[in-house]
Amino acid sequence: MFKSAASSTVYADYNATAPLRKEAREAMLVAMEIGANASSVHGAGRKAKAVIERGRDQVAMAIGACRDDLFFTSGGTEANFSVLKGACAADPSLRLIVSAIEHDAVLAQFPDAERAPVTADGVIDLDWLRHRMAEWISEDGRPFLSLMFANNETGVIQPVADAARLVHDAGGLIHSDAVQGLGKVQLSVVDLEVDYLTLSAHKIGGPQGVGAVFLAAGAPYICQITGGGQEMGRRAGTENVAGIAGFGAACDAAVSDLDGFAKLAQLREKLENRLKTEGGVTIIGERVARIANTTCLAKSGFRSETQVMAMDLAGVAVSSGSACSSGKVRRSHVLSAMNISPELADGALRISFGWQSTPDDHERVADAWLAAAMRAGQLSTPKKETA
Ligand code: PLP
Repeated sequence: MFKSAASSTVYADYNATAPLRKEAREAMLVAMEIGANASSVHGAGRKAKAVIERGRDQVAMAIGACRDDLFFTSGGTEANFSVLKGACAADPSLRLIVSAIEHDAVLAQFPDAERAPVTADGVIDLDWLRHRMAEWISEDGRPFLSLMFANNETGVIQPVADAARLVHDAGGLIHSDAVQGLGKVQLSVVDLEVDYLTLSAHKIGGPQGVGAVFLAAGAPYICQITGGGQEMGRRAGTENVAGIAGFGAACDAAVSDLDGFAKLAQLREKLENRLKTEGGVTIIGERVARIANTTCLAKSGFRSETQVMAMDLAGVAVSSGSACSSGKVRRSHVLSAMNISPELADGALRISFGWQSTPDDHERVADAWLAAAMRAGQLSTPKKETA
């Protein structure tokens, strides 16, 4: 995993998009050569169909699901849209509750949905959920919770299985956006006890523009993208054969290197300790379980955009908050939900590593941040020299 990067730039924005894995690229090139529609009955069409079904097996295997419970989409956003709209259309008694730290791809679907609060560490408040479920009466309909597996900005892992039990005991359903969990820790839809799970290929070294939905057998759902009967009537549109091939190959590669991914936590610890000691940063979500690749650091008075630009000039790619919303400078709703002061939130930076990251990359990110902070007058004492 830790092979040295030949490039002079450092990419530390994997939570936005991970670089394409060679296994994914190769599978896509082979699939693109087929050049047929998977719905066609001739030989070439059947070949394309076989590629899709292999991809389905690979993605299903990565989350411990039954292959028939999975359908492909154009990405994580469409997957979230399909689940939330499709479930609520199929069962109008569902009352959606979303955690306050969900990605916009969840929040935007039903902007008026009830928000479940999170603790100061960025974990859903299970006491709140327990009370909310205990007071639930059937006249209120059925609770339907959307709780992400891991947060894209902080990396904080959510207690999805605990939440699932509370919601199921109240007669409800649960969806988990696992876009930032796939390929980073072992995921099992059985252990998580979820009714719906959503995924995206490009966060794990697959191509952009492909995602998937896990739909537990019997979970209410009405197809939202209508047209042809592709994906067993669950999502119309000619399938992205090459994209699905790349998604499947990326899943295999990521799942076979989960131990390597977990080792990123040691490099992160070193990086965070250095930036805390030498840079006086606050690490967001530090006290709770996080995915191994993500650091969200913050420094009051050192604006996120300034940090991102200074790092970019030094050849280091990082993000402020969610990359999907970068460009528009606005305070992170995730950090606000964690009750982090506006001054600190405005100085937040997301650093995220992945399958190609090296120990040297971590060092260079720390060096670049400290140099930027020094130039901006943000360090009270000179940066310690490193050998
Ligand atoms: N959900 C989460 C947690 C994400 O981080 C993202 C992308 O940043 C998405 C959903 C959207 O996925 P996609 O980019 O595949 O539409």
